Amino acid sequence: LSHSINWQAIDTVLLDMDGTILDLGFDNFFWLEHLPQTYADKNNLSLQQSKQHLADSYATVEGTLAWYCLDFWSDKLNIDIVKLKHDVQHKIQFRPYAVDFLSFLVEQNKRIILATNAHPKALEIKHQKTKFDQYFCQLNSSHTLGYPKEDQQYWHLLQQEYDFDKERTLFVDDSIKILQSAQTFGIKHLRAIAQPDMRRDKINTSPFIAIDDYREVITCD
Ligand SMILES: [Mg+2]
Repeated sequence: LSHSINWQAIDTVLLDMDGTILDLGFDNFFWLEHLPQTYADKNNLSLQQSKQHLADSYATVEGTLAWYCLDFWSDKLNIDIVKLKHDVQHKIQFRPYAVDFLSFLVEQNKRIILATNAHPKALEIKHQKTKFDQYFCQLNSSHTLGYPKEDQQYWHLLQQEYDFDKERTLFVDDSIKILQSAQTFGIKHLRAIAQPDMRRDKINTSPFIAIDDYREVITCD
Protein backbone atom coordinates (compact mmCIF):
# COMPACT_ATOMS: atom_id res chain seq x y z
CA LEU A 1 0.00 0.00 0.00
CA SER A 2 1.51 3.34 -1.06
CA HIS A 3 -0.52 5.10 1.62
CA SER A 4 0.91 3.13 4.51
CA ILE A 5 3.87 4.47 6.46
CA ASN A 6 7.00 2.42 7.05
CA TRP A 7 7.36 3.08 10.78
CA GLN A 8 10.67 1.18 10.96
CA ALA A 9 12.19 3.96 8.86
CA ILE A 10 11.05 6.76 11.17
CA ASP A 11 12.43 8.02 14.52
CA THR A 12 10.98 11.52 14.75
CA VAL A 13 7.46 12.69 13.97
CA LEU A 14 6.87 16.42 13.48
CA LEU A 15 3.19 17.27 13.72
CA ASP A 16 1.37 20.43 12.83
CA MET A 17 -1.42 21.45 15.24
CA ASP A 18 -4.37 23.22 13.55
CA GLY A 19 -5.95 21.12 10.81
CA THR A 20 -3.63 18.21 11.58
CA ILE A 21 -4.21 17.00 15.13
CA LEU A 22 -6.95 19.54 15.87
CA ASP A 23 -9.97 20.23 13.68
CA LEU A 24 -9.45 23.42 11.68
CA GLY A 25 -13.17 24.11 12.22
CA PHE A 26 -12.35 26.13 15.35
CA ASP A 27 -9.90 28.42 13.52
CA ASN A 28 -12.17 28.90 10.52
CA PHE A 29 -15.06 29.69 12.85
CA PHE A 30 -12.93 32.10 14.90
CA TRP A 31 -11.26 34.06 12.07
CA LEU A 32 -14.05 33.92 9.49
CA GLU A 33 -17.16 34.22 11.68
CA HIS A 34 -16.63 35.07 15.34
CA LEU A 35 -13.99 37.78 14.93
CA PRO A 36 -15.77 39.48 11.97
CA GLN A 37 -18.99 39.58 14.02
CA THR A 38 -17.18 41.04 17.04
CA TYR A 39 -15.34 43.58 14.88
CA ALA A 40 -18.60 44.58 13.16
CA ASP A 41 -20.38 45.12 16.49
CA LYS A 42 -17.49 47.15 17.88
CA ASN A 43 -17.15 49.41 14.82
CA ASN A 44 -20.79 49.68 13.74
CA LEU A 45 -20.12 47.90 10.46
CA SER A 46 -22.32 45.41 8.65
CA LEU A 47 -21.07 41.83 8.91
CA GLN A 48 -20.33 41.95 5.19
CA GLN A 49 -18.17 45.10 5.54
CA SER A 50 -16.36 43.64 8.52
CA LYS A 51 -15.64 40.36 6.70
CA GLN A 52 -14.29 42.26 3.72
CA HIS A 53 -12.10 44.48 5.88
CA LEU A 54 -10.66 41.49 7.73
CA ALA A 55 -10.14 39.46 4.57
CA ASP A 56 -8.13 42.35 3.11
CA SER A 57 -6.09 42.64 6.30
CA TYR A 58 -5.42 38.88 6.40
CA ALA A 59 -4.24 38.94 2.78
CA THR A 60 -1.56 41.54 3.44
CA VAL A 61 0.30 39.33 5.97
CA GLU A 62 -0.54 35.80 4.80
CA GLY A 63 2.33 33.35 5.19
CA THR A 64 4.26 35.61 7.58
CA LEU A 65 4.61 35.31 11.36
CA ALA A 66 2.36 38.36 11.79
CA TRP A 67 -0.54 36.36 10.32
CA TYR A 68 -0.22 33.94 13.21
CA CYS A 69 0.56 36.55 15.87
CA LEU A 70 -2.28 37.19 18.33
CA ASP A 71 -0.61 40.36 19.62
CA PHE A 72 -0.40 41.72 16.08
CA TRP A 73 -4.16 41.28 15.59
CA SER A 74 -5.03 42.54 19.08
CA ASP A 75 -3.13 45.76 18.32
CA LYS A 76 -4.33 46.12 14.76
CA LEU A 77 -8.01 45.54 15.49
CA ASN A 78 -8.04 46.87 19.06
CA ILE A 79 -9.70 43.66 20.27
CA ASP A 80 -8.35 41.29 22.95
CA ILE A 81 -7.90 38.24 20.70
CA VAL A 82 -6.73 35.92 23.51
CA LYS A 83 -9.83 36.69 25.57
CA LEU A 84 -12.06 36.31 22.52
CA LYS A 85 -10.54 32.86 21.85
CA HIS A 86 -11.08 31.85 25.48
CA ASP A 87 -14.77 32.73 25.12
CA VAL A 88 -15.25 30.14 22.37
CA GLN A 89 -12.66 27.55 23.42
CA HIS A 90 -15.35 24.88 23.87
CA LYS A 91 -15.28 24.59 20.07
CA ILE A 92 -11.66 23.36 20.06
CA GLN A 93 -11.50 19.66 19.29
CA PHE A 94 -9.26 16.87 18.06
CA ARG A 95 -9.61 15.58 14.54
CA PRO A 96 -11.19 12.09 14.46
CA TYR A 97 -8.79 9.41 15.78
CA ALA A 98 -5.97 11.93 16.34
CA VAL A 99 -5.72 10.76 19.97
CA ASP A 100 -5.43 7.14 18.81
CA PHE A 101 -2.71 8.18 16.38
CA LEU A 102 -0.79 10.06 19.10
CA SER A 103 -1.12 7.12 21.52
CA PHE A 104 0.15 4.79 18.80
CA LEU A 105 3.22 6.99 18.22
CA VAL A 106 3.94 7.01 21.95
CA GLU A 107 3.67 3.19 22.08
CA GLN A 108 6.03 2.97 19.12
CA ASN A 109 8.57 5.09 21.03
CA LYS A 110 8.68 7.78 18.40
CA ARG A 111 10.00 11.18 19.31
CA ILE A 112 6.96 13.41 18.77
CA ILE A 113 7.41 17.13 18.32
CA LEU A 114 4.60 19.63 17.79
CA ALA A 115 5.73 22.04 15.06
CA THR A 116 3.18 24.81 14.67
CA ASN A 117 3.00 28.33 13.30
CA ALA A 118 0.44 29.12 15.98
CA HIS A 119 1.35 31.85 18.44
CA PRO A 120 2.48 30.59 21.91
CA LYS A 121 -0.72 32.01 23.45
CA ALA A 122 -2.87 30.17 20.89
CA LEU A 123 -0.88 27.01 21.56
CA GLU A 124 -1.49 27.41 25.29
CA ILE A 125 -5.26 27.80 24.89
CA LYS A 126 -5.35 24.67 22.76
CA HIS A 127 -3.29 22.44 24.98
CA GLN A 128 -5.14 23.62 28.07
CA LYS A 129 -8.38 22.60 26.40
CA THR A 130 -7.28 19.27 24.88
CA LYS A 131 -4.30 18.21 27.08
CA PHE A 132 -2.42 17.06 23.97
CA ASP A 133 0.91 18.04 25.54
CA GLN A 134 1.03 14.66 27.33
CA TYR A 135 1.83 12.94 24.02
CA PHE A 136 4.66 15.23 22.91
CA CYS A 137 8.34 15.38 23.81
CA GLN A 138 8.42 19.02 22.73
CA LEU A 139 5.93 21.71 21.76
CA ASN A 140 7.41 24.28 19.39
CA SER A 141 5.82 27.49 18.16
CA SER A 142 7.67 28.92 15.16
CA HIS A 143 7.44 32.34 16.86
CA THR A 144 10.22 31.21 19.20
CA LEU A 145 12.47 30.63 16.15
CA GLY A 146 11.56 33.90 14.44
CA TYR A 147 10.48 32.41 11.10
CA PRO A 148 7.31 30.63 9.91
CA LYS A 149 7.37 27.09 8.49
CA GLU A 150 7.06 28.56 4.99
CA ASP A 151 10.66 29.87 5.36
CA GLN A 152 13.78 27.67 4.93
CA GLN A 153 15.39 29.43 7.91
CA TYR A 154 12.71 27.89 10.11
CA TRP A 155 13.78 24.38 9.15
CA HIS A 156 17.47 25.06 9.72
CA LEU A 157 16.73 26.48 13.18
CA LEU A 158 14.30 23.68 14.05
CA GLN A 159 16.89 21.07 13.16
CA GLN A 160 19.55 22.88 15.18
CA GLU A 161 17.22 22.95 18.16
CA TYR A 162 16.06 19.33 18.06
CA ASP A 163 18.80 17.60 16.07
CA PHE A 164 16.55 15.26 14.03
CA ASP A 165 17.62 13.16 11.06
CA LYS A 166 15.78 14.47 7.95
CA GLU A 167 15.97 11.00 6.40
CA ARG A 168 14.22 9.41 9.39
CA THR A 169 11.63 12.10 10.05
CA LEU A 170 7.93 12.19 9.20
CA PHE A 171 6.23 15.58 8.93
CA VAL A 172 2.43 15.89 8.79
CA ASP A 173 0.74 19.18 7.91
CA ASP A 174 -2.50 20.32 6.25
CA SER A 175 -0.83 23.15 4.29
CA ILE A 176 0.56 22.24 0.87
CA LYS A 177 2.77 25.31 0.84
CA ILE A 178 4.32 24.28 4.14
CA LEU A 179 4.78 20.67 3.02
CA GLN A 180 6.62 22.00 -0.04
CA SER A 181 8.87 24.03 2.25
CA ALA A 182 9.64 20.91 4.34
CA GLN A 183 10.34 18.95 1.16
CA THR A 184 12.73 21.62 -0.12
CA PHE A 185 14.60 21.38 3.19
CA GLY A 186 14.81 17.61 2.73
CA ILE A 187 12.37 16.03 5.17
CA LYS A 188 11.98 12.59 3.64
CA HIS A 189 8.59 11.40 4.86
CA LEU A 190 5.68 13.78 4.25
CA ARG A 191 1.93 13.46 4.62
CA ALA A 192 -0.90 15.92 4.06
CA ILE A 193 -4.35 15.89 5.69
CA ALA A 194 -7.30 15.23 3.40
CA GLN A 195 -9.95 17.10 5.38
CA PRO A 196 -8.47 19.66 7.81
CA ASP A 197 -11.89 21.15 8.65
CA MET A 198 -14.43 18.38 9.24
CA ARG A 199 -17.31 20.72 8.30
CA ARG A 200 -15.82 21.43 4.89
CA ASP A 201 -14.95 19.38 1.82
CA LYS A 202 -11.72 17.49 1.34
CA ILE A 203 -8.86 19.53 -0.12
CA ASN A 204 -6.57 18.78 -3.04
CA THR A 205 -3.28 17.73 -1.47
CA SER A 206 -1.42 16.90 -4.69
CA PRO A 207 1.47 16.12 -5.00
CA PHE A 208 1.48 14.89 -1.40
CA ILE A 209 -0.10 11.71 -0.14
CA ALA A 210 -2.91 12.54 2.25
CA ILE A 211 -4.00 10.86 5.44
CA ASP A 212 -7.75 10.43 5.07
CA ASP A 213 -8.29 8.78 8.41
CA TYR A 214 -5.62 8.25 11.09
CA ARG A 215 -6.73 4.63 11.50
CA GLU A 216 -5.18 3.93 8.06
CA VAL A 217 -1.67 4.64 9.34
CA ILE A 218 -1.93 2.99 12.76
CA THR A 219 -0.31 -0.23 11.61
CA CYS A 220 2.62 -2.31 12.73
CA ASP A 221 4.38 -4.33 10.07
MG1 LIG B 1 -2.24 23.55 9.95
